Amino acid sequence: MPYNHILVAVDLTEECDPVIHRARELSVSNGAKLSLVHIVEPMAMAFGGDVPMDLSQLQQQQFDQAKERLERLKHKYAELEGANCHLTYGQPRQEIHHFAKEQQCDLVVVGSHGRHGLALLLGSTANDVLHGAPCDVLAVRLQNKS
Ligand code: AMP
Repeated sequence: MPYNHILVAVDLTEECDPVIHRARELSVSNGAKLSLVHIVEPMAMAFGGDVPMDLSQLQQQQFDQAKERLERLKHKYAELEGANCHLTYGQPRQEIHHFAKEQQCDLVVVGSHGRHGLALLLGSTANDVLHGAPCDVLAVRLQNKS
């Protein structure tokens, strides 16, 4: 059965190249719709909860920066033309699952570093997304930085 709607999750780094290419290839070969999502993690979340200062301005800057990077990405990859690009706040796993369910995606494509040792114990977004995913998940192997 071909996929109908593929969701590619990107962290907006240079590393998302192979992830986008793979998702695009699959969308063409399956005749599937392609959507892209990036999640901006709230700063308070990154600091582990309560932070005794107002982070709203920094948070807005972070969101604006992500918006700019997403625009640059859309210009860089002609293959994203026509793709439904989505930017939101939250926790990546939760938001990716939510979006996939809401938009009835049948495949989520993420990058994976194939971590080992301590990094493996700490987990990864790809692992996180796999658990409890509402559809198939493809982890595209990324080069580990040495
Ligand atoms: P990481 O485990 O953080 O190295 O990320 C691995 C992959 O998870 C990335 O290549 C993306 O596909 C996805 N990912 C990580 N962070 C985000 C994010 N904030 N929004 C959407 N996808 C993400």
